[in-house]
Amino acid sequence: MKKVIILGGGESGVGAALLAQAKGFDVFLSDRGSLKENYRLALEAADIPYEEDRHSEERILDADVVIKSPGIPATVPLVLKLREQGTPVISEIEFAAHYTKAKLIGITGSNGKTTTTLLTHHLLKTAGLNVGLAGNVGDSFAEQVIDDEFDYYVLELSSFQLDDMYETHLDVMMLLNITPDHLDRYGYNFQNYVDSKFRILQNAGSGDDFIYFAESEPIQSELARRNPEVNRLPISLEKTVSPGGYLADGQLVAHNRGQSFTMQQAETTLRGPHNAINTLAAVLAAQSVGVSEEAIRRGLKTFQNAAHRLEPAGTINGVQFINDSKATNVDSVFYALSSMESPTVWIAGGQDKGNEYSQLNEVVRQKVKSLICLGVDNHKLVDFFSDKVSAIYETQDIEKAVAKGLEWAQPGEVVLLSPACASFDLFKNYEDRGNQFKAAVKELISKSASQ
Ligand code: ADP
Repeated sequence: MKKVIILGGGESGVGAALLAQAKGFDVFLSDRGSLKENYRLALEAADIPYEEDRHSEERILDADVVIKSPGIPATVPLVLKLREQGTPVISEIEFAAHYTKAKLIGITGSNGKTTTTLLTHHLLKTAGLNVGLAGNVGDSFAEQVIDDEFDYYVLELSSFQLDDMYETHLDVMMLLNITPDHLDRYGYNFQNYVDSKFRILQNAGSGDDFIYFAESEPIQSELARRNPEVNRLPISLEKTVSPGGYLADGQLVAHNRGQSFTMQQAETTLRGPHNAINTLAAVLAAQSVGVSEEAIRRGLKTFQNAAHRLEPAGTINGVQFINDSKATNVDSVFYALSSMESPTVWIAGGQDKGNEYSQLNEVVRQKVKSLICLGVDNHKLVDFFSDKVSAIYETQDIEKAVAKGLEWAQPGEVVLLSPACASFDLFKNYEDRGNQFKAAVKELISKSASQ
């Protein structure tokens, strides 16, 4: 019996273990840390052996195939050894894709993946298609494939997942943008990261649809260099394209496979130029699988995005609070600020990821009246923006940040948490930061109501 070793016991690893067991492999799961209780129970219920707090090297090196969690870098000695001896190391997505006949829609990009994945899934579901959601969001792809009851899967693919994919054929591919991120995992070489993102195209053929943002410079130049054989569907914010999608005078327009779609962005539930790109990408993908204009329209009117992405957090005395805690890099903040329609008090800061802020010069001058720095070390933000905003306040306390926002904003204005940084200096993760922000706003709302 073929020996399958799973490295990493999170959602994807446990799902892969369950699928491998169901397919009759000899399975063993190894995690260097400890497993969550529900995962431990799931493995035990399926009679799958596992270890915690270590990797038993000898046993792992004896595997026929290793399925590696995307969280484990390719450069750890154990993975290097496996590769050296020629053992295939693949991702859960690659493993699971062998066991489904469904059509696969894969989505990658530095920003916008989750939003676009959820929206694409919602549009197909609204049309009554039998569609699953997997990858970086929701339940493990491998676990869903055990019963393989879907006709389509919408998969959010991070570069780490793409790195361990080799043969998976995607019917529709999306590449939303490429901006520097995760460079620590790519030898601080941007081209390595670009190559990783372009792996989404590695098995594409001329009958497959490739949806991409045409004004992303790295995408443009890489496409020109590689010239892949695939049906290209560009998205533009600047000019008319057909087939493809564009934004003109607030109107979303998409042409694909003989279908046409138009709708004012204001009629959808998503705001801002970045969301115009995400929406057009989802619409083009829906057209690729034959979803009607009417269903797309209905889907765009009813979509609810995941929390922490330009999420309304409440209004106090006409001041609107917005939680964009997921904006952990400079590019996402650029789009968040570009989406603001009123003068904005901007809350930013946290753990710096080698940020370069010059991209924000213009939009900060246009939209931001004052800056609240919420972080342990704010000197980079303060140095860069002190001559571009009217006032700066520094704190490590989110309640004080929210209270200062209310003090500084006039009725009709906005207080936006869009940090451009990781959250780990003061919070557990971006969700914790967003939740604490929302709780602080709620607290102020109840205080102001009782006054
Ligand atoms: P991901 O899953 O790639 O991290 P999300 O959909 O969770 O993307 O969005 C993360 C953040 O990136 C959001 O807070 C939003 O401000 C920003 N964003 C979303 N879509 C885009 C886009 N197409 N281009 C640039 N930034 C975006």
